[in-house]
Amino acid sequence: MKALQELVRPNIWRMKPYSSARDEYQGTAASVFLDANENPYNTPYNRYPDPLQRKLKEKLAELKGLPPESIFLGNGSDEAIDLLYRAFCEPRVDNAVAIAPTYGMYKVCAEVNDVAYREVLLGDGFSLSASRLLEAADARTKLIFLCSPNNPTGNSLDAGEIEAVLRGFDGLVVLDEAYIDFSSRESFIGTLAGHPNLVVLQTFSKAWGCAAIRLGMAFASPDIVAVLNKIKYPYNVNELTQRHALEMLYRYHDMHRWVATLKEERHYLEEKLRGLRCVVGIYPSDANFILVRMTDAPRLYDYLVARGIIVRNRHTALLCGNCLRITVGTRVENDMLLEALAEAE
Ligand SMILES: *Cc1c(COP(=O)(O)O)cnc(C)c1O
Repeated sequence: MKALQELVRPNIWRMKPYSSARDEYQGTAASVFLDANENPYNTPYNRYPDPLQRKLKEKLAELKGLPPESIFLGNGSDEAIDLLYRAFCEPRVDNAVAIAPTYGMYKVCAEVNDVAYREVLLGDGFSLSASRLLEAADARTKLIFLCSPNNPTGNSLDAGEIEAVLRGFDGLVVLDEAYIDFSSRESFIGTLAGHPNLVVLQTFSKAWGCAAIRLGMAFASPDIVAVLNKIKYPYNVNELTQRHALEMLYRYHDMHRWVATLKEERHYLEEKLRGLRCVVGIYPSDANFILVRMTDAPRLYDYLVARGIIVRNRHTALLCGNCLRITVGTRVENDMLLEALAEAE
């Protein structure tokens, strides 16, 4: 990996971050807080939240087996994705490389930040080829985006190929593990110590059942996390979110139960979909959704909408012609979908 100073944009490296009242006094011994122009009434929501979410990170660090300094928390993973571009990619100069098809926000954030985005098509079975990805990178490539299990294809990328990307690239490799809890593969966070250029993204939006609270996690070396913390909005994760997330971390058994149920339902859906006339093929999934090739995806999408059932039409995504992406729901929801598809002519 290049030295971090070579990767970070010079203006970001040089700047002094905003220092909030809650940054300047961090002790807990005081009982009179007259430093932040807060309203003394309406406890506890009158107070600014902890800008570095210490309590939450302490518990998360314990669960993930990482030091708190290796954790960045943001307003969804989407904030981490945007901050990575803003911290590392000089607009119109640097570029990012990503697999395709994949999650749309990597490209949207590249465009917002005026950063060239190079897509490398996945191979047979939506497989990753490290050498093809690395060939697309050059001296101005700062970020490589990988997603495993991948959205919208549902498959996990080969761990050996991910390793090869990490070893063969001197910039940052962002590995999005939004669906890792549904996967039979191990997370790469266990390899962070051996990979200084790895950034792993996870989220509260899927397995944890907390899409509404907007909380995303980035795990990386303390030096990389410090760069993201330097440029984030001071109070990017609000108090309601911090409280609810902490409560959820103590309820991890609920998360595990939901994941076990959803994996069973995924299997049920796969089996039942296989027997339908409108289904051409089902791609193996390691996530809480299934990519399904249909006889006529756009027509079936409209048909389902008319019956009040919404799936994701991926017909126009690269390599996904005539594909619908179907999220695994409850048994009742899955049966409603199956019944509707069985009745489609
Ligand atoms: C759903 C999803 C996310 C979650 O984003 P949040 O902003 O944390 O809700 C991230 N990455 C991928 C690939 C996803 O599919």
